[in-house]
Amino acid sequence: MIFQLSISDTIRKQRKFFQSGTTKDFAFRLVQLKALKQAIIQHQTDITHALLADLNRAEVETYGTEILLILSEIDYAIKNLKQWMQPQKLATNIQQLPASAHIYPEPLGIALIIGPWNYPFQLTLSPLVGAIAAGNCAIIKPSELASNCSKVIAEIITKSFASEYITVVEGGVDTSQQLLADKFDHIFFTGGTAIGKIVMEAAAKHLTPVTLELGGKSPCIVDADVNIECTAQRIIWGKFLNAGQTCVAPDYLLVNKNIKPQLLTALQKSIKEFYGDNPAKSPDYGRIINHKHFDRLVKFLQDGHICIGGESNKIECYIAPTVIDNISLTSAVMQSEIFGPILPIIEYGDIDKAITIINSQPKPLAVYLFSQDKKLQQRILQNTSSGGVCINDTVMQAAASGLPFGGVGDSGIGRYHGKTSFETFSHYKTVLQRSFLFDIKLRYAPYKGKLQWL
Ligand code: NAD
Repeated sequence: MIFQLSISDTIRKQRKFFQSGTTKDFAFRLVQLKALKQAIIQHQTDITHALLADLNRAEVETYGTEILLILSEIDYAIKNLKQWMQPQKLATNIQQLPASAHIYPEPLGIALIIGPWNYPFQLTLSPLVGAIAAGNCAIIKPSELASNCSKVIAEIITKSFASEYITVVEGGVDTSQQLLADKFDHIFFTGGTAIGKIVMEAAAKHLTPVTLELGGKSPCIVDADVNIECTAQRIIWGKFLNAGQTCVAPDYLLVNKNIKPQLLTALQKSIKEFYGDNPAKSPDYGRIINHKHFDRLVKFLQDGHICIGGESNKIECYIAPTVIDNISLTSAVMQSEIFGPILPIIEYGDIDKAITIINSQPKPLAVYLFSQDKKLQQRILQNTSSGGVCINDTVMQAAASGLPFGGVGDSGIGRYHGKTSFETFSHYKTVLQRSFLFDIKLRYAPYKGKLQWL
């Protein structure tokens, strides 16, 4: 960790180190990826404890959604790095002959990574895998709201890397803004849409490219022809994982009115199976990050008719897994991303109504569709826009290194995971190589009489 006063100094030192060319070497990048992997494995218990303290996260959930995901990203990068670094041959056209053309990936320089609190470990270190693989230096600013996790991240990075290569700056909004005042070569931000705009504005002053991984209201459509029990389990898992504080959680359900009663029964059964009669006592159910977010969420409990859950306890930052029916589109819970354990249900008779509702909102990070009807699947794919789509499950599209992940419109700019992380932190330099074998003189002045040959 470095002190706030030395941010500019650290950036200067990182720039000098980057210019030495050390980070561009394949072997160097590989060693750093392996060092990060080792450090994460060694700190597994600390990571688990930190997430228990910050979010009351169960060990299995922490392992699956944080540690395993990041280790898979590292393994995927190690396996593919050599190939990703190769120049790619491109075709040339007749005017350029004789010539060859390639694109060369080159690192951008110094990356700033600003992380959120909800999956504080994975969402801060996964982008770092891309930055290392692509040969960059990096400064990481974890979220101050998951303070225990921020400390563990700082410890892992400080032990594993020299600060002129990769370092952590801990702190809140002031620190973030202090960092953003400086010039970076890429800014990778994960957080809310409103803060994303602030980050982009600051980046624009230096013409720094940004990746913005933001949020939004991800709808989940449930058609009539589904396996109701399995659908309910997959919705409840994706919604109440981390107490609903997941950027790709299904925000609200659009349910075919013919199966709504059966689905409600199945949702209730799944909640009971996963978290018992009293989720407040379940070791597997999380807590809201702080009182501010708790207060924001409990206001939503005044909307519609609570058919499951609804209990809350401010001292413990506990809100029960809650399902709300009879929601109007103008109610508060439908105006912004919920980001908590509250699931509104809206029924539809005609699928066009569901599509209209989705398209009346800013473009979400995900659209979920539970349906076996191929025509309906195509219709949703073609008539809605979102960062990604998952058919017949929730959240899983965000959990695979081979699948690019990112938003569109208000839910974000750019993508990462696997090769797209490498691409995000690289500049693809076009190189055209000509030969002296022969020269077509047509392009040279004087032009008189040459138009007829073009
Ligand atoms: P946030 O935007 O409040 O904070 C994110 C980071 O920005 C933190 O490190 C914080 O210190 C910093 N920050 C906060 N205010 C700032 C300001 N005024 N100027 C500069 N920096 C500032 O987000 P959050 O509350 O940590 O996370 C919740 C949001 O993030 C939700 O909207 C969620 O959907 C979204 N999210 C998106 C993804 C994704 O992958 N697309 C993942 C997780 C969370």
